[in-house]
Amino acid sequence: MPGGVSSPVRAFGAVGGTPRFIRRGEGAYVEDVDGRRYVDLVMSWGALILGHAHPEVVEAVKRQAELGTSFGAPSKPELELAETITRLMPAVERVRLVSSGTEAAMSAVRLARAATGRTRLLKFAGAYHGHYDGLLAAGGSGLATLGLDSTEEQTLVVPYNDLPAAAAALEARDVAAVIVEPVAANMGVVEPRPGFLAGLREACDRTGTLLVFDEVITGFRVALGGAQELFGVRPDLTLLGKIIGGGLPVGAYGGRADLMAMVAPEGPVYQAGTLAGNPVACAAGLATLRVLERDPPYGRLESAAERLQEACAGLPVTVNRAASLLTVFFTDQPVTDYEGARRSDTAAFARLHGDLLDAGVYLPPSQFEAWFLSGAHDTAVVSRVEEALVQKLKRIIAAR
Ligand code: PMP
Repeated sequence: MPGGVSSPVRAFGAVGGTPRFIRRGEGAYVEDVDGRRYVDLVMSWGALILGHAHPEVVEAVKRQAELGTSFGAPSKPELELAETITRLMPAVERVRLVSSGTEAAMSAVRLARAATGRTRLLKFAGAYHGHYDGLLAAGGSGLATLGLDSTEEQTLVVPYNDLPAAAAALEARDVAAVIVEPVAANMGVVEPRPGFLAGLREACDRTGTLLVFDEVITGFRVALGGAQELFGVRPDLTLLGKIIGGGLPVGAYGGRADLMAMVAPEGPVYQAGTLAGNPVACAAGLATLRVLERDPPYGRLESAAERLQEACAGLPVTVNRAASLLTVFFTDQPVTDYEGARRSDTAAFARLHGDLLDAGVYLPPSQFEAWFLSGAHDTAVVSRVEEALVQKLKRIIAAR
């Protein structure tokens, strides 16, 4: 296995040390094969908003698995998941289920190109939309971590939060779609400036460009209706993943009914999948969305994130937070884009990561990622993280 892993960041290349091999997860905790327990702030990179092995999700998976794991034919869980998504996200008038966020992004790009008759894309430096070629330019997440890059002449890249640059690029060239993480979470967390998303909406309307929100992380995370609800901006297309699979492989893309009518078999834009809309994955996602709807955890999640942010006040770090998503950067300058994020002292982050592992807290193994909380991170768990975080930060800062 290249790097010994199935996905690059897991190899700990950015922080050093030995990747932990996880054998089980329970609530806010994971346990490795050597029997050590950690408070988990990765939470399957945001998929597990209810915590590991939530009883209702486990029950839904078991029940569906007993009925069969895959049919390659329409089934009830996918219908119910699609109905729930379109009800909770009004801009998603129609939806197609796929198996990952990457697939959602590449499928939406194909649709946007067919709908506009244009090929160029505009994305933001440090954003990550999966590993589709056309969207890898200046990517964040693992690309940022590993210093990889790819140039794609069909992809225009401008700084996140730079509305004038984005608008100018759209005026200068025909672009099929602007694809944006409404809260950037793959350069670490960077909030959209007030007016940034609404400004993109206007610039897209002015130039006949489609606006695609990548809500693979933010969907059902920053609010029940995602970032589009939180910021009140309606995209043409939305990408989803993570939470809608409840920890199993699912992605989705959806949006305006007239656009989605172009997808096969109704229209000419071909896109298919053997395991698309997999019944077990959809049952897990549906169980997750039901719990979120019945007992929305967003206030509690946000308070917990706020506590961690406030605990760092007075230290020479910058804590970016959007709803419950947060990242600690080792810089005292504000971080509003990728360039700002890259000013962080990543060696200090690597120390923090290792020190917190020793203290039983598992951070994402890269500076350029969001820290994820779940409904299982109760006050006692958050206190434990807070205490360890502040203690380790102070030590690292004093030693610099
Ligand atoms: N978009 C965003 C915003 C993501 O964070 C990710 C993955 N972290 C993806 C797309 C790709 O999703 P996947 O890993 O499921 O292919």
